[in-house]
Amino acid sequence: MSVPAADITNWIDSPEYKELNFARKDLVVNPAKACQPLGALICALGFEGCLPFVHGSQGCTAYFRNSLSRHYREPVGAVSDSMTEEAAVFGGQSNLIEGLKNAYTLYKPGLMAVFTTCMAEVIGDDIKAYVDNARKQKAIPEDFPLALAHTPSFKGSHITGYDNMLKGFLEGLAAPRRHATHLRLYVVPGFDTYPGNLREYKRLLRILGVTYTLLPDYSDVVDAPNTGEFKMYPGGTPLAELQEALNASGYLFLQTYSTSATLKYIKNVQKIPTETVPMPIGVINTDKFLMTVSQMAGKSIPAELENERGRAVDAATDAHPYIHGKRFALFGDPDLLYGLTSFLLEMGGVPVHIISTNGSAAFAKDMEELLNSSPYGQEATVHLGKDLWHLRSLLLTEPVDMLIGDSHGKFAARDAGIPLVRIGFPITDRVNLHRYPIVGYAGVLNLITMIANAFLEEKDRTSTDAYFELLR
Ligand code: SF4
Repeated sequence: MSVPAADITNWIDSPEYKELNFARKDLVVNPAKACQPLGALICALGFEGCLPFVHGSQGCTAYFRNSLSRHYREPVGAVSDSMTEEAAVFGGQSNLIEGLKNAYTLYKPGLMAVFTTCMAEVIGDDIKAYVDNARKQKAIPEDFPLALAHTPSFKGSHITGYDNMLKGFLEGLAAPRRHATHLRLYVVPGFDTYPGNLREYKRLLRILGVTYTLLPDYSDVVDAPNTGEFKMYPGGTPLAELQEALNASGYLFLQTYSTSATLKYIKNVQKIPTETVPMPIGVINTDKFLMTVSQMAGKSIPAELENERGRAVDAATDAHPYIHGKRFALFGDPDLLYGLTSFLLEMGGVPVHIISTNGSAAFAKDMEELLNSSPYGQEATVHLGKDLWHLRSLLLTEPVDMLIGDSHGKFAARDAGIPLVRIGFPITDRVNLHRYPIVGYAGVLNLITMIANAFLEEKDRTSTDAYFELLR
């Protein structure tokens, strides 16, 4: 007997279905994460002249490039050695050697970053040995700079891949630490898909008068100016600054969970002075970022930044009535979620459902502390390892006023009849958002604008004539 479609539609909105949905163990539906090599590719784009080289299948590479091009609306350069069935049986060494030779000859990179897909990892390809053989066979010059990373996608996510690749760059290409350090602060943004954020960090560091290197910096690669002339390598952290990276005066990590392996390497193995701050989203986290830079670099906070802070606080006060007491659901990467939750708590917003497919137990603990620190955090539950189908059940059974997350959230938001404010990766159905910073005091203004105005739009759209007011 067939069940009417309307009955099924109602049933999947019910608390009974939610319970079954949350009991699901062996099936993932639309996870809020991508695979490791995608993160490695973004990291590789951040070094000047670097060509990302995917050791694995062509389809995976097409998926990474496609995802990034849809988000940035820019061409994203990366090559693949196109492993097929034969390589899966006999190993991918010949693919890698021939691929390196072709890529070096055709695209004339200044350096390359080699990382793997599932196929290469399942068969256990030893890319270090293969690259050594490529040099011996003169497929590439003996001294050609190459960074390597194993990025198996059956564990971790895009943030793990980003971390592995960044560590690979430092291990493979940075010169050993000498005793005489140079006075340069290395700032690691972490997995951050906003060129607007990277530019905001650079602007703030310039105002503070700090000598710094952003490691890595793909802002000009994923957001190159349209001058009518195509540049294969339009920017990035210079190789010379990567080579000097272990002689930094200190390291400042602007995320916690997307660079944990790199942090351990810098702090515990290289013994370089290191600080970590939460992603500077919101006034409190921006204050922490600026104060930490100020202490590490011995610079005072100029009046220009004090005024910026004052304007952000003023904007927060103006918009407070529209955000205070509103209930939110959020999904995305752990560092982003931590920053956004902190910002919402500052504004008197009430986070309720927080979905993190790729969050760790350490992230859950940090979130618990953050939520416990505010009266507005008491209703929140952090759902680790859950996906967007779980999120849909939550939105339909325990309603909130707004969803915050990337474009993938639009279906659940529509079913729940609430607005989606698009923050995160990927954003494929709105333009330009990646160009607007969500970090720093400028980010506070942008977040307030997006969130408060989305509520006001909703109010105008749903008001009856009697309540359709000029003033809001
Ligand atoms: S999960 Fe594995 S097979 Fe799928 S795109 Fe990523 S690397 Fe390729």
